[in-house]
Amino acid sequence: MIAEKLKATLLDGSVVAQRIKEQVKAEIEELKTTRNIVPCLAAVRVGEDRASAVYVRNKIAACGEVGIRSEHHALPDSTTTAELLALIRSLNSRDDVDGILTQLPLPKDIDETVVIDAIDPRKDVDGFHPINVGRLSLGRPQLVPCTPAGIIELLDYYKVDIRGVDACVVGRSQIVGRPMVQLLLQRDATVTVCHSRTRDLAAVTRAADLLIVAIGRAGMIGRNHIKPGATVVDVGMNKLTDADAVRGMFGSETDKRLAVLAKRGYTLVGDVNPAEALEVAGKFTPVPGGVGLLTVAMLMKNTLKAAKMRRGLVD
Ligand code: NAP
Repeated sequence: MIAEKLKATLLDGSVVAQRIKEQVKAEIEELKTTRNIVPCLAAVRVGEDRASAVYVRNKIAACGEVGIRSEHHALPDSTTTAELLALIRSLNSRDDVDGILTQLPLPKDIDETVVIDAIDPRKDVDGFHPINVGRLSLGRPQLVPCTPAGIIELLDYYKVDIRGVDACVVGRSQIVGRPMVQLLLQRDATVTVCHSRTRDLAAVTRAADLLIVAIGRAGMIGRNHIKPGATVVDVGMNKLTDADAVRGMFGSETDKRLAVLAKRGYTLVGDVNPAEALEVAGKFTPVPGGVGLLTVAMLMKNTLKAAKMRRGLVD
């Protein structure tokens, strides 16, 4: 008998994101009917970064889908830290605003830390304020960063074991890696964290049943980094513009990806080499179509939660 090459199951983020948005929408309809509350998200964007503009547009569109009122504050590149802080303060003080998100990265002349610290922690729907970071690390989470929270929802939906498993997170950013570690710990995983100074990365990642990768290096994690049968979550979102690189990463999808490259000038790839992951992993999140969609869905969920928390409707 010839053994068939193992093919990983794809964990489809769109199904889970849709489900989260439907739940949020139903709850918002109920809030509106029973208490006349319509949650509101204020999105703040500074400068002309095109990727940021697309991200904010997607977030505003998602608000429309679920019934959240939204405001888009698009400020010019010349905005000073003081001007941005004045806007944040006014959003903090408005009773009709439940969530504030400042799209990162901010222009280099603006101090991101000062801006994040200025957001009212109760309206901090990105979960980046030190109070929310502290609460998460104490195991008392309230508003949790959207990408790692979405990954937990995805794993739960697909019934991936977390408790007791050897989990490895590659990347220690404030946005993804660190909060991911906290959420996995809370769910009783045994967690290892890797970063750019880790010695022999492949030896560490290969020991993991659950491997979560958030590094920002196109296709860097390959078959040698993955334990056969492991669940691999690829958070990376990188633009590939080189046809040879595309040929080395997409296996049977190569022609489709080359067509996308020819049309758009790039194709998206995560931090994991998808063709190799599909051969070795047991479960794998595609890029696009995996984690990215969950981030926006969780932002909707956080905005609803913030609206309820401010009115004493949740603990
Ligand atoms: P980041 O802030 O740049 O952090 C990258 C992390 O990766 C750092 O901790 C860095 O280590 C580590 N790293 C870099 N090179 C490495 C290497 N060769 N070996 C091991 N570790 C390495 O990035 P991020 O904001 O977490 O984002 C990571 C990726 O996820 C990006 O592609 C981003 O676009 C994507 N992302 C996607 C979503 C989504 O919704 N899907 C959301 C957020 C981010 P050091 O700490 O030692 O420097």
